[in-house]
Amino acid sequence: MDKEVKGKTKLVMSVEGMHCADCALNIERSIQHLSGVLEATVDYINQRAVVDYDPYRIEVDQIKRAVLKPGYLIRETPVLKTRSFFLRYRHLLMVGGIGLFLLFAWLSPQPFKGFFAFLGAILGLFPILRNAIKTLLSFDVNTNVLVSIAVIAALFIGAYVEGAIVVWILLLGEALEGLTVAKTRKAFSTLMDLAPEKATVRRDGKEMEIPVREVVRGDCVIIKPGERIPADGIIQKGKGAVSEAFLTGESIPIEKEVGDKVYTATVNDSGTFEMEAVKVGEETTFARVKRLIQDAQSKKAPIQRTIDRFARLFVPLSLLTAILVFFLTGEMRRAITILIVACPCAFVLGTPTAVIAGIGRAARKGILIKGGPILEGCGRLNAFLFDKTGTLTHGNPRVVKIHSFDHYNEAEVLRLAGMAELRSEHPFARAILSRAREDNLDLPLAESYEIKKGKGVTATYDGELIVIGNPNYLKEKGITIEKDIKGVMEKEEGEGRTLLFVAHSNSSSEGPKLCGLLSIFDPPREDARKMINEIQGAGVRRIALLTGDRPGTARAVAKSVGIEEVYSELLPEEKMERVKSFRRAGYTVGMMGDGVNDGPALAAADIGFAMGVYGTEVALETADIALMSDDLGGVSRVIGLSRKALSIIHQNLFFTIGLSILLVVITSFGLLPMVGGAVMHEASSLVVILNSMRLLRYGMES
Ligand code: ADP
Ligand code: MG
Repeated sequence: MDKEVKGKTKLVMSVEGMHCADCALNIERSIQHLSGVLEATVDYINQRAVVDYDPYRIEVDQIKRAVLKPGYLIRETPVLKTRSFFLRYRHLLMVGGIGLFLLFAWLSPQPFKGFFAFLGAILGLFPILRNAIKTLLSFDVNTNVLVSIAVIAALFIGAYVEGAIVVWILLLGEALEGLTVAKTRKAFSTLMDLAPEKATVRRDGKEMEIPVREVVRGDCVIIKPGERIPADGIIQKGKGAVSEAFLTGESIPIEKEVGDKVYTATVNDSGTFEMEAVKVGEETTFARVKRLIQDAQSKKAPIQRTIDRFARLFVPLSLLTAILVFFLTGEMRRAITILIVACPCAFVLGTPTAVIAGIGRAARKGILIKGGPILEGCGRLNAFLFDKTGTLTHGNPRVVKIHSFDHYNEAEVLRLAGMAELRSEHPFARAILSRAREDNLDLPLAESYEIKKGKGVTATYDGELIVIGNPNYLKEKGITIEKDIKGVMEKEEGEGRTLLFVAHSNSSSEGPKLCGLLSIFDPPREDARKMINEIQGAGVRRIALLTGDRPGTARAVAKSVGIEEVYSELLPEEKMERVKSFRRAGYTVGMMGDGVNDGPALAAADIGFAMGVYGTEVALETADIALMSDDLGGVSRVIGLSRKALSIIHQNLFFTIGLSILLVVITSFGLLPMVGGAVMHEASSLVVILNSMRLLRYGMES
């Protein structure tokens, strides 16, 4: 459960017994106050505490004690099923018990009415008071303190029936809240419970069915139609149509054959195949995604930190208001009702429920939003920068034309280019190599390679020198371009193609000379224009293209997808500088790239997006928002979702603050009875939760 993170250590605990978001805040504060604790987040919805601490300054036991002292429990294994019957149903049991007493009170003749109601109130008060006392002992106040004071005061003035009804309603409300929150949480667990339990493997020529956790790397796993794949692997025999829908949101099954990769928890729709397990258990992409999603849920949005701070003021403020009203009107009942209606429960619930629902909704569509801060930031994006290659284009460039000069012919130019690119991972290198392979060219390995990111490559082979790259790179290498190629350049670049310059020298005595040009075309994605329109519609004011490519090509591509602002011939650091300058100008900047040559820019943006990351670990880990599938439409949808989440958070805040003020005023004038106050209190929490849950149905279809 404990995980090392560079010096500081992370502790993840499941906490049991929190009955409202306010309890979570209390625990969080008491952990945060311990010296040696760097950061603590207690998440009510997932009943989890995540603590970053310095193991040299504090022991795990001390942290656990801070949770246990006020009376909460730490569950060692986060499995919901191990919860005891009583714990699971304690709310409902309590509600039933008090209800029974109230029924007796109602049916009994006058002198016993008060007696039964009193018993009911005491029963309900017990857990609330226990928590309140523990909170007070740790020099803090919370909503349980308010409710305890209110109920005790009610009993004190002889309002037994009302007191009992109030605790009954509060507990009933809590039980309902628990149920709705559990439903929100389920948006994740359905995603999480997808790993299969059994696998069929062949060992020593024998087929056997074993539990998935016993599958080891190198196992030959047999997958039949309709089965879920138990490990990440490579198909060795047979073929299948695999549906990766729940991870990537892509609903059409993908044909997979020998040599193709398949991933854990995806479903084999038809066909039978044998695969070699390459990654098992915790190493699989599925496990990784699962961990990232779990972490994401525990990260609080900045807006929530502000709210938490505000909520601390709320409690003493309501106490003060209640006392004030009592002194001004002399009406104890009004003061009690104020304590009940001015509880910050609904207020505190508004943000985390929306964040969880939003992240859950996206996760179901194969979009990983890494936490509340990211969701909030994404909702505020007003500038968006795109990398060109592999992002706005397919990233599958092809060599479409070869121009050769002097005594060189086309095949020679291609062969030289291919030799130079053997060690490069740039998409252009792949294009050149695949064309060379198609043409059956023999490419010997060069002696040395110098790869300049965003520029080109220089290779030496048996005294020969090959330089390939953009014109600036050639200039840097002291190669002058004497030929008149202006016409060719204008034409090719105008069509969105990139020209790569190839220079060659036979011996080291003479400098390399331009021997040919490769015209490379990487078609823009069909869905790019639509996506650009959509994010503009969603309120992103500035959209720009960043590329290392030449201005002509860049402009042509930008135009074809509907982007007006273009920055070309940028080196990776310059892309990052661009992002930073947008941020300095006050924009909240989103940046989308493929991770090739744009890693620094992605990191510098407020929100970095990566696409098609399923199976590519680096992008999955570094991006703030990772789109599993290779579908640009996800960008506008996730921006739309985040905006919706932000507006729901704001609605919740305005609603709860407005309602509290209104109720306090009404109560001060004696217009709201105690029981009505309890109903309003719980109703407002439920309204807030239901409002957040609308996100679970947010339209994410293209
Ligand atoms: P983009 O911004 O489109 O992703 P890069 O920053 O990857 O572009 O590259 C910028 C330019 O540098 C390319 O258009 C190409 O001209 C040149 N270049 C980069 N890497 C290589 C390479 N391996 N071989 C040839 N040219 C390259
Ligand atoms: Mg790139």
